[in-house]
Amino acid sequence: MNILVVNCGSSTVKYQLFRMEEENGDDVIAKGVVERIGITGSNLEYKAGDREIIREREIPNQRVALEWVVEILTDDEIGVLEDISQIDAIGHRVVHGGERFTDSVLLSQEVLDVVRECSELAPLHNPPNILGIEACQDLIPGVPQVAVFDTAFHGTLPEYAYIYPIPYGFYRKYRIRRYGFHGTSHKYVAGRAAKMMGKNLGELKLVTCHMGSGVSFAAIKNGVSIDTSMGFTPLEGLMMGTRCGDIDPAIVLYLMDKEGLDIQDMDRILNKKSGVLGVSGISSDTRDIEDAAPAEHRARLTLELIAYRAKKYIGAYYAVLGGLDGVVLTAGIGENSSYIRKSIFVGLDHFGVKIDDEKNTIRRKEGFISTDDSSLKVMVIPTNEQLMIALDTYLLVTQRE
Ligand code: ADP
Repeated sequence: MNILVVNCGSSTVKYQLFRMEEENGDDVIAKGVVERIGITGSNLEYKAGDREIIREREIPNQRVALEWVVEILTDDEIGVLEDISQIDAIGHRVVHGGERFTDSVLLSQEVLDVVRECSELAPLHNPPNILGIEACQDLIPGVPQVAVFDTAFHGTLPEYAYIYPIPYGFYRKYRIRRYGFHGTSHKYVAGRAAKMMGKNLGELKLVTCHMGSGVSFAAIKNGVSIDTSMGFTPLEGLMMGTRCGDIDPAIVLYLMDKEGLDIQDMDRILNKKSGVLGVSGISSDTRDIEDAAPAEHRARLTLELIAYRAKKYIGAYYAVLGGLDGVVLTAGIGENSSYIRKSIFVGLDHFGVKIDDEKNTIRRKEGFISTDDSSLKVMVIPTNEQLMIALDTYLLVTQRE
């Protein structure tokens, strides 16, 4: 079965074509990205086996981007498909599934209408996701399509974990609650962690730490998410590249008053000017911060904040899980930064964790970084959201048949 996985963003379309013969098959036969959609200098990157090309063309919107993807996949010279009819199913990443979707779902007109309603909760993300779905319905008609939601995996949060202590009427009126994000990544790495540990996911207590430019942690008990750090929006929780994470909400009111800021100004400060960039004043990229740390106090302080705040969440989730068998580190920072990984676990010996410095040199590969005798296992697991989307699509489409 050939499954096209599509992740339609506001200015990029990422795609991967999987050949899946069974649930565990995960052959990527082609992949790439269309960048700078709606901006000058749009280009398409395409990789298939050892062939790799980049082409430039004006791409005004997601529909034209997907037309180009279909064209290149079926290209006589470099394509991997003879005809578009060889695509058997399409899996879409959709950011927000609201309260309605707690699992991936086969798309129908009714489902699409609900996804559209969820756009109010993710105005930057859901609209391009929907454009991608509609374009695929036209370009590759009659093929089953599946929506895989970033929020779905956290649909299992108990009420006391998702309700905020603000007047309850706002939950009723606006559905203001914790939704959580990065669900596809948390679900994927949790499943891999169980395999690495040789245990059943249903009997494990895990904290999964997705640390990229966006950062979120999840507490996973017996295979389900029971708490997560991102909330109503992806702004809450850990400190991120440019997002502030948890702060006293009164700071927002105070700053708006003192600096005469409007909502857009404040939104930009919290989402684009804070976090690693805001504290360091250097960059949002932790690689630059690690390089600057020997000479710059604020770079060292930034690294201290990252580790301190990560440690606090792991401690909180240890408490709510009632113990901890494993911690997974994933995404850009989690998969690469030995320094940040190590500093998160300094002083956590009482949790039964010991980091092995030699093992902690691992990058972008699965492996344990805790010592063999560490009772709490710490693992690096590269995330693979596309594969998770392909798997869910495979399962839903084959169950349907
Ligand atoms: P995104 O969330 O945008 O998909 P990634 O998961 O790729 O991003 O993470 C990007 C971030 O990961 C970078 O901004 C950088 O902070 C961090 N990162 C990537 N590689 C390294 C590295 N070798 N060392 C330290 N940090 C890294």
